[in-house]
Amino acid sequence: MEHGTVILRANLVLPISHDPLPDGEVVVEHGRIVEVRPRSTLAGDEVLEFGDAIVMPGLINGHSHLEYTALRGWNDRVPFFEWIRGLVSLKAKCPAELWLPSAMLGAAELIASGVTFVSDNTDSGASAEALARLGLRGRVYQEVFGVETEPDDATILRELDAKLDALRQTLARYEASDRIGLGVSPHAIYTVRDSLMRALRQYAREQNLPLSIHASESSEEVALARSGSGSFAEMFRERGINYLHPRVPPIEYLYNAGILASDVQLVHATRAEPREIDMMARTKVSVAHCPRSNARLLTGIAPVYAMRRQGIPVVVGTDGAVSAGSLDIWEEVRFAALAQRAASYAAQPSWRDWIGMLTLEAAKAFGVDAHIGSLEAGKRADMVVVRTTRPAFSGVSDPYAALVLLARSEDVALTMVDGHILYRDGKHTELDVDALRHKVEEMTRHALAEHPT
Ligand SMILES: [Zn+2]
Repeated sequence: MEHGTVILRANLVLPISHDPLPDGEVVVEHGRIVEVRPRSTLAGDEVLEFGDAIVMPGLINGHSHLEYTALRGWNDRVPFFEWIRGLVSLKAKCPAELWLPSAMLGAAELIASGVTFVSDNTDSGASAEALARLGLRGRVYQEVFGVETEPDDATILRELDAKLDALRQTLARYEASDRIGLGVSPHAIYTVRDSLMRALRQYAREQNLPLSIHASESSEEVALARSGSGSFAEMFRERGINYLHPRVPPIEYLYNAGILASDVQLVHATRAEPREIDMMARTKVSVAHCPRSNARLLTGIAPVYAMRRQGIPVVVGTDGAVSAGSLDIWEEVRFAALAQRAASYAAQPSWRDWIGMLTLEAAKAFGVDAHIGSLEAGKRADMVVVRTTRPAFSGVSDPYAALVLLARSEDVALTMVDGHILYRDGKHTELDVDALRHKVEEMTRHALAEHPT
């Protein structure tokens, strides 16, 4: 099918860049969209007729940690500080060989919910290979940690350089270098000391790599930055780590340090204050919004309404399954939309805005809107087909409302990247998910069952 013409037909085509097209079809050739047009009787080499369904651009998951999929269910601790300490101790017990199958299992779950582009922050680097092997598009940020005095900045930068080279080789091996871009993630202000944060900013600028930073996620993080108090500060004192708190909240600190720019993604920004939102708008950063993770870890509801009013691009991310519970992007966007309405008493963002934030707006935030994010001639054939046959869809005429309020992974009939069908009618086309799941569960049980946390 790669070299022929494939036509996807359905009762509704949702190009995002244009108004919905009832009774439409999308024509694909050589992995690209060549035409979006009213339903015809023309034949292609392959015609896929979906009937009651919506054909739309593939969904963009703005933030995840795929390598930790295996740890879902093993860490129910709250609040955030207890949870992240729990995660660190679980990670330490797992063998390095777990991270690749774990990331692949997570990627498979995303594909089944219609995701075609994933932005993933990875410590082990395994998610780059997972995305490459499973045929996904995405951005992989190599995580960096360093809050103690050793190793020094130069050593950490050398290690980062070597890790990025290894990731480049992996992507080349799978011929995925065009599909998957790299970036750097200084993890957060409580895991990356000031000198290292600045060094990473400079390194990323020189290497032309974007940054992703967890910022202002929890009240514990804000207390540490503002006043050197709270759980993080106590932990540092216990460990003899001399943490120089900046005396301003986290995003204000990043602004003052010259870290923020249009190539920076701030993850969460749950506790962002009005003056920090001004700084974010001025420096044109984007925000990854992961509301289920925030709710589960008791960190709050991010001020998405206020951020968007200032023109800050917001993307929706599932975060890791280990904090959000699932990698179903529909669950994430539904929770995001409803929680935001409840918190802001405003009907904004609209249902249409939210679908835009999963597609074209997200593609713009990642700088890839020339290739993906909408159904337009010339763009890559990254698409998802959502069936609207369940009775719950009955009577909902606004497709954006239907998708935000009703759609779920089980409604996804097809997921396509570059014209390749990765998933169809409940099945991955090139992956035995059951076998993978059993392997991951067995490895995880073996590593953790004898060491209950
Ligand atoms: Zn994260």
